[in-house]
Amino acid sequence: MNTPADNAFLDTLCRDAGAVAWGVAPAGPVEEADRGVYDAWIASGNHGCMQYMERYHDVRFDPRQLLEGARSIIVCAFSYRRSDHNPWISDYALGGDYHTVLRECLAPVAAAIERRCGGATRVCVDSAPLRERYWAERAGVGRCGLSGKLLVPGAGSEIFLAEILTTAAIAPTSPLDNELCTRCGRCVQSCPAGALDGSGRVDARRCLSCLTVEWRGPLPVATDLHGRLAGCDVCSRVCPLSQGPATSLPGLQPRAEILAMTPARALALTRGTFKSTFTGTALMRLRLDGLRRNASLCKSDDQ
Ligand code: SF4
Ligand code: SF4
Repeated sequence: MNTPADNAFLDTLCRDAGAVAWGVAPAGPVEEADRGVYDAWIASGNHGCMQYMERYHDVRFDPRQLLEGARSIIVCAFSYRRSDHNPWISDYALGGDYHTVLRECLAPVAAAIERRCGGATRVCVDSAPLRERYWAERAGVGRCGLSGKLLVPGAGSEIFLAEILTTAAIAPTSPLDNELCTRCGRCVQSCPAGALDGSGRVDARRCLSCLTVEWRGPLPVATDLHGRLAGCDVCSRVCPLSQGPATSLPGLQPRAEILAMTPARALALTRGTFKSTFTGTALMRLRLDGLRRNASLCKSDDQ
């Protein structure tokens, strides 16, 4: 006979997997109000070059289409916070590809839920059209701030979200009662690209995290990457809620050669050295051409 998953069981599983926070929401259609916000964001072009965000509309607003019969969504947050940084590359990209690392972390959690509760599961790591922050808020994992990012108590916004959809009906956890964002405005004022309008919306056409990694081909004339090779952590780092220890997940520990990467070194990479440096990391999708393009836009005093 299958046994319901209680909070202590899930807490042990998720924390052992490396999650800094977790929660459960009942799977169902996304509320109309959230759909409206998302649709308006897309309609005004704020998603920039991420055209994939226009697709799979029905699936995006009903996660039961990602797993037939899904009844619960377990949302986990994993910190990628680091104490050592590369000034040109986001912390999230210094180690192994988080898609692979987090999937490996959550596979045993999903298997344990299946053993205990029966039914089927599906692990999603930034690969399925899922309203991640919406479900994270519903599950009580955190609350969104003016940076547009999810703020997690004790960890801030330097986190990855990953989900387990399950056909098991698991008792939901409660959304957080209070706002976490103090509306101090540091994220908005510090954004080098002016991508935050102070309402919690991000303009991906300006956001350096998006432009450096998602944009394919030459960037528009006069684009200023503000010395970024890949990704941007400014709005997360300045947030007073970004605190807590550096991630201890072995797969996310930085590679020495990426930690030491500079624009000049990026320009000197060959196809072979790019591959040996970045295979197995999230920056493989940027490709050598993309990294060199970004490096060529860094000023000489960045080298
Ligand atoms: S990631 Fe960087 S560019 Fe994007 S909103 Fe935050 S501070 Fe601005
Ligand atoms: S920096 Fe301030 S305004 Fe921005 S998300 Fe953090 S608490 Fe909110």
